[in-house]
Amino acid sequence: MRCYYINRIMVATLLAAMLLVVSCATTGPGGKKSFIMISTDQEVSIGRQMDQQLRKTEKILNDPLWQNYINELGQKIVAVSDRRDLQFQFAVIESDQINAFAAPGGYVYFYTGLINEMNQESELVAVMAHEISHVVARHSIKRLQSIMGISIVLDLALGGSSDNTKALAGTALGIAMSGYSRANETEADNYGTLYMTRAGWHPQGMVAMFGRLQELSGHRQMDLFEMLASTHPATENRIAATKIQIFEMGNLGTKLKKDTPRFQELKKRLPHKPGG
Ligand SMILES: [Zn+2]
Repeated sequence: MRCYYINRIMVATLLAAMLLVVSCATTGPGGKKSFIMISTDQEVSIGRQMDQQLRKTEKILNDPLWQNYINELGQKIVAVSDRRDLQFQFAVIESDQINAFAAPGGYVYFYTGLINEMNQESELVAVMAHEISHVVARHSIKRLQSIMGISIVLDLALGGSSDNTKALAGTALGIAMSGYSRANETEADNYGTLYMTRAGWHPQGMVAMFGRLQELSGHRQMDLFEMLASTHPATENRIAATKIQIFEMGNLGTKLKKDTPRFQELKKRLPHKPGG
Protein backbone atom coordinates (compact mmCIF):
# COMPACT_ATOMS: atom_id res chain seq x y z
CA MET A 1 0.00 0.00 0.00
CA ARG A 2 2.75 2.34 1.02
CA CYS A 3 4.79 1.46 -2.06
CA TYR A 4 1.80 2.09 -4.18
CA TYR A 5 1.43 5.47 -2.57
CA ILE A 6 5.06 6.38 -3.14
CA ASN A 7 4.75 5.31 -6.75
CA ARG A 8 1.78 7.56 -7.13
CA ILE A 9 3.76 10.45 -5.67
CA MET A 10 6.72 9.69 -7.91
CA VAL A 11 4.53 9.60 -10.97
CA ALA A 12 2.89 12.85 -9.96
CA THR A 13 6.32 14.45 -9.44
CA LEU A 14 7.53 13.12 -12.76
CA LEU A 15 4.41 14.43 -14.41
CA ALA A 16 4.93 17.85 -12.87
CA ALA A 17 8.52 17.85 -14.15
CA MET A 18 7.31 16.85 -17.59
CA LEU A 19 4.79 19.66 -17.60
CA LEU A 20 7.60 22.11 -17.08
CA VAL A 21 9.77 20.60 -19.80
CA VAL A 22 7.43 19.88 -22.69
CA SER A 23 4.24 21.79 -22.06
CA CYS A 24 2.75 24.53 -24.16
CA ALA A 25 3.81 24.16 -27.77
CA THR A 26 2.58 26.68 -30.32
CA THR A 27 -0.32 25.08 -32.18
CA GLY A 28 -1.91 27.87 -34.17
CA PRO A 29 -1.98 31.47 -35.38
CA GLY A 30 -1.70 34.32 -32.91
CA GLY A 31 0.57 32.39 -30.54
CA LYS A 32 -2.10 29.80 -29.67
CA LYS A 33 -0.62 27.20 -27.29
CA SER A 34 -1.56 23.64 -26.35
CA PHE A 35 -0.30 21.10 -23.84
CA ILE A 36 1.89 18.69 -25.84
CA MET A 37 3.91 15.87 -24.25
CA ILE A 38 5.09 14.07 -27.38
CA SER A 39 8.24 15.87 -28.55
CA THR A 40 8.80 16.93 -32.14
CA ASP A 41 11.50 14.24 -32.49
CA GLN A 42 9.06 11.55 -31.35
CA GLU A 43 6.38 12.93 -33.62
CA VAL A 44 8.75 12.77 -36.60
CA SER A 45 9.70 9.22 -35.66
CA ILE A 46 6.01 8.19 -35.61
CA GLY A 47 5.42 9.95 -38.93
CA ARG A 48 8.46 8.31 -40.55
CA GLN A 49 7.19 4.85 -39.60
CA MET A 50 3.76 5.67 -40.96
CA ASP A 51 5.39 6.85 -44.17
CA GLN A 52 7.27 3.55 -44.47
CA GLN A 53 4.03 1.58 -43.96
CA LEU A 54 2.20 3.72 -46.48
CA ARG A 55 4.85 3.36 -49.17
CA LYS A 56 4.44 -0.43 -48.97
CA THR A 57 0.74 -0.25 -49.84
CA GLU A 58 0.38 2.88 -51.99
CA LYS A 59 1.96 3.72 -55.33
CA ILE A 60 3.92 6.97 -55.34
CA LEU A 61 3.32 8.81 -58.66
CA ASN A 62 6.39 8.37 -60.85
CA ASP A 63 6.58 11.95 -62.11
CA PRO A 64 9.31 14.22 -60.70
CA LEU A 65 7.58 17.33 -62.10
CA TRP A 66 4.52 16.61 -59.99
CA GLN A 67 6.52 15.67 -56.88
CA ASN A 68 8.57 18.89 -57.20
CA TYR A 69 5.47 20.98 -57.77
CA ILE A 70 3.55 19.61 -54.79
CA ASN A 71 6.63 20.14 -52.65
CA GLU A 72 6.97 23.76 -53.81
CA LEU A 73 3.32 24.51 -53.03
CA GLY A 74 3.68 22.88 -49.64
CA GLN A 75 6.84 24.74 -48.67
CA LYS A 76 5.22 28.09 -49.57
CA ILE A 77 2.38 27.38 -47.14
CA VAL A 78 4.74 26.05 -44.45
CA ALA A 79 6.81 29.24 -44.72
CA VAL A 80 3.85 31.36 -43.57
CA SER A 81 2.49 28.83 -41.07
CA ASP A 82 2.98 28.66 -37.31
CA ARG A 83 5.05 25.50 -37.43
CA ARG A 84 8.57 25.60 -38.79
CA ASP A 85 10.31 23.06 -36.53
CA LEU A 86 9.60 20.26 -39.03
CA GLN A 87 10.97 19.24 -42.40
CA PHE A 88 7.65 18.81 -44.18
CA GLN A 89 7.53 16.21 -46.95
CA PHE A 90 4.87 16.09 -49.64
CA ALA A 91 4.03 13.23 -51.97
CA VAL A 92 1.55 12.52 -54.76
CA ILE A 93 0.04 9.02 -54.67
CA GLU A 94 -1.30 7.47 -57.85
CA SER A 95 -4.84 6.41 -56.97
CA ASP A 96 -8.40 7.23 -58.00
CA GLN A 97 -9.32 8.02 -54.39
CA ILE A 98 -10.47 11.59 -53.90
CA ASN A 99 -8.34 12.05 -50.85
CA ALA A 100 -5.47 13.80 -49.09
CA PHE A 101 -4.17 13.53 -45.57
CA ALA A 102 -1.38 14.50 -43.21
CA ALA A 103 0.56 12.20 -40.91
CA PRO A 104 2.31 13.46 -37.76
CA GLY A 105 5.75 14.94 -38.29
CA GLY A 106 4.85 16.78 -41.50
CA TYR A 107 4.27 13.95 -43.99
CA VAL A 108 1.47 15.05 -46.34
CA TYR A 109 -0.09 13.01 -49.17
CA PHE A 110 -2.27 13.88 -52.16
CA TYR A 111 -4.08 11.33 -54.30
CA THR A 112 -4.20 11.92 -58.06
CA GLY A 113 -7.96 11.25 -57.84
CA LEU A 114 -8.35 14.42 -55.77
CA ILE A 115 -5.97 16.54 -57.87
CA ASN A 116 -7.86 15.56 -61.02
CA GLU A 117 -11.06 17.02 -59.55
CA MET A 118 -9.55 20.41 -58.65
CA ASN A 119 -10.42 23.01 -61.29
CA GLN A 120 -7.83 25.62 -60.33
CA GLU A 121 -4.59 25.83 -58.37
CA SER A 122 -6.11 27.69 -55.42
CA GLU A 123 -8.45 24.72 -54.78
CA LEU A 124 -5.47 22.38 -54.51
CA VAL A 125 -3.67 24.93 -52.33
CA ALA A 126 -6.74 25.04 -50.07
CA VAL A 127 -6.44 21.29 -49.46
CA MET A 128 -2.71 21.74 -48.88
CA ALA A 129 -3.22 24.56 -46.37
CA HIS A 130 -5.92 22.54 -44.57
CA GLU A 131 -3.63 19.50 -44.24
CA ILE A 132 -0.65 21.55 -43.04
CA SER A 133 -2.97 23.13 -40.47
CA HIS A 134 -3.72 19.70 -38.98
CA VAL A 135 0.04 19.31 -38.44
CA VAL A 136 0.42 22.84 -37.03
CA ALA A 137 -2.41 22.21 -34.58
CA ARG A 138 -0.97 18.73 -33.82
CA HIS A 139 -4.45 17.22 -34.02
CA SER A 140 -3.33 13.61 -34.39
CA ILE A 141 -0.70 14.03 -31.66
CA LYS A 142 -3.30 15.43 -29.26
CA ARG A 143 -5.59 12.51 -30.01
CA LEU A 144 -2.75 10.04 -29.51
CA GLN A 145 -2.02 11.62 -26.13
CA SER A 146 -5.61 11.23 -25.06
CA ILE A 147 -6.13 7.64 -26.22
CA MET A 148 -2.76 5.96 -25.65
CA GLY A 149 -2.62 6.46 -21.90
CA ILE A 150 -0.31 8.50 -19.78
CA SER A 151 2.32 5.80 -19.15
CA ILE A 152 3.15 5.25 -22.82
CA VAL A 153 3.20 8.97 -23.51
CA LEU A 154 5.49 9.51 -20.51
CA ASP A 155 7.75 6.71 -21.69
CA LEU A 156 7.92 8.33 -25.10
CA ALA A 157 8.52 11.76 -23.67
CA LEU A 158 11.38 10.41 -21.57
CA GLY A 159 13.20 8.79 -24.46
CA GLY A 160 10.83 6.02 -25.35
CA SER A 161 11.27 2.55 -26.76
CA SER A 162 10.93 1.80 -30.44
CA ASP A 163 8.17 -0.74 -29.73
CA ASN A 164 6.01 2.00 -28.32
CA THR A 165 6.79 4.30 -31.23
CA LYS A 166 5.74 1.50 -33.59
CA ALA A 167 2.47 0.99 -31.73
CA LEU A 168 1.82 4.71 -31.86
CA ALA A 169 2.61 4.85 -35.57
CA GLY A 170 -0.02 2.19 -36.22
CA THR A 171 -2.59 4.05 -34.15
CA ALA A 172 -1.67 7.38 -35.75
CA LEU A 173 -2.17 5.93 -39.21
CA GLY A 174 -5.62 4.75 -38.16
CA ILE A 175 -6.45 8.24 -36.89
CA ALA A 176 -5.17 9.93 -40.03
CA MET A 177 -7.11 7.57 -42.27
CA SER A 178 -10.35 7.66 -40.28
CA GLY A 179 -10.68 11.40 -39.96
CA TYR A 180 -10.53 14.00 -37.23
CA SER A 181 -13.21 15.50 -35.00
CA ARG A 182 -15.50 18.23 -36.25
CA ALA A 183 -13.73 20.77 -34.05
CA ASN A 184 -10.39 19.73 -35.59
CA GLU A 185 -11.76 20.12 -39.10
CA THR A 186 -13.20 23.55 -38.37
CA GLU A 187 -9.84 24.63 -36.95
CA ALA A 188 -7.91 23.29 -39.97
CA ASP A 189 -10.30 25.11 -42.35
CA ASN A 190 -9.84 28.30 -40.39
CA TYR A 191 -6.02 28.19 -40.21
CA GLY A 192 -5.81 26.93 -43.79
CA THR A 193 -7.84 29.85 -45.14
CA LEU A 194 -5.52 32.25 -43.33
CA TYR A 195 -2.30 30.52 -44.44
CA MET A 196 -3.23 30.26 -48.13
CA THR A 197 -4.05 33.97 -48.17
CA ARG A 198 -0.77 34.84 -46.45
CA ALA A 199 1.07 32.75 -49.06
CA GLY A 200 -0.53 34.65 -51.95
CA TRP A 201 -3.55 32.60 -53.06
CA HIS A 202 -7.14 33.81 -53.00
CA PRO A 203 -9.05 32.19 -50.11
CA GLN A 204 -12.05 31.84 -52.41
CA GLY A 205 -10.19 28.68 -53.48
CA MET A 206 -11.22 27.11 -50.16
CA VAL A 207 -14.90 27.80 -50.91
CA ALA A 208 -14.52 26.53 -54.50
CA MET A 209 -12.81 23.34 -53.27
CA PHE A 210 -15.67 22.57 -50.87
CA GLY A 211 -18.15 23.28 -53.65
CA ARG A 212 -16.34 20.80 -55.85
CA LEU A 213 -16.43 18.13 -53.12
CA GLN A 214 -20.12 18.81 -52.60
CA GLU A 215 -20.77 18.18 -56.30
CA LEU A 216 -18.87 14.92 -56.11
CA SER A 217 -20.34 13.65 -52.86
CA GLY A 218 -23.65 12.79 -54.52
CA HIS A 219 -22.21 9.80 -56.30
CA ARG A 220 -19.00 9.03 -54.42
CA GLN A 221 -19.69 8.79 -50.72
CA MET A 222 -16.93 6.76 -49.19
CA ASP A 223 -13.57 7.84 -50.52
CA LEU A 224 -13.77 11.61 -50.45
CA PHE A 225 -11.16 13.87 -48.92
CA GLU A 226 -10.33 12.49 -45.43
CA MET A 227 -13.50 10.40 -45.45
CA LEU A 228 -15.49 13.58 -45.66
CA ALA A 229 -18.88 11.93 -45.39
CA SER A 230 -18.40 10.27 -42.00
CA THR A 231 -17.09 12.77 -39.49
CA HIS A 232 -16.68 16.11 -41.19
CA PRO A 233 -18.92 19.07 -40.46
CA ALA A 234 -21.50 19.27 -43.22
CA THR A 235 -19.90 20.81 -46.28
CA GLU A 236 -22.42 23.64 -46.44
CA ASN A 237 -21.45 24.65 -42.89
CA ARG A 238 -17.78 24.70 -43.87
CA ILE A 239 -18.56 26.85 -46.90
CA ALA A 240 -20.59 29.28 -44.78
CA ALA A 241 -17.88 29.54 -42.10
CA THR A 242 -15.17 30.12 -44.71
CA LYS A 243 -17.22 32.83 -46.44
CA ILE A 244 -17.63 34.64 -43.12
CA GLN A 245 -13.89 34.38 -42.46
CA ILE A 246 -13.09 35.79 -45.92
CA PHE A 247 -15.57 38.63 -45.38
CA GLU A 248 -13.87 39.45 -42.06
CA MET A 249 -10.47 39.62 -43.76
CA GLY A 250 -11.69 42.79 -45.50
CA ASN A 251 -10.11 44.06 -48.69
CA LEU A 252 -7.79 41.39 -50.11
CA GLY A 253 -6.51 43.50 -53.02
CA THR A 254 -6.12 42.20 -56.55
CA LYS A 255 -2.82 40.32 -56.36
CA LEU A 256 -3.97 37.02 -54.87
CA LYS A 257 -3.74 34.04 -57.27
CA LYS A 258 -6.67 31.83 -58.22
CA ASP A 259 -5.01 29.73 -60.87
CA THR A 260 -1.76 29.34 -62.83
CA PRO A 261 -0.95 28.00 -66.32
CA ARG A 262 1.58 25.71 -64.63
CA PHE A 263 -1.14 23.91 -62.68
CA GLN A 264 -3.26 23.45 -65.81
CA GLU A 265 -0.27 22.10 -67.78
CA LEU A 266 0.71 19.70 -65.01
CA LYS A 267 -2.87 18.47 -64.69
CA LYS A 268 -2.68 17.20 -68.28
CA ARG A 269 0.21 14.95 -67.24
CA LEU A 270 -1.78 13.15 -64.55
CA PRO A 271 -2.93 9.62 -65.18
CA HIS A 272 -6.70 9.61 -65.66
CA LYS A 273 -8.93 6.78 -64.68
CA PRO A 274 -10.10 4.66 -67.63
CA GLY A 275 -13.02 6.37 -69.33
CA GLY A 276 -12.62 9.43 -67.03
ZN1 LIG B 1 -9.11 17.71 -42.27
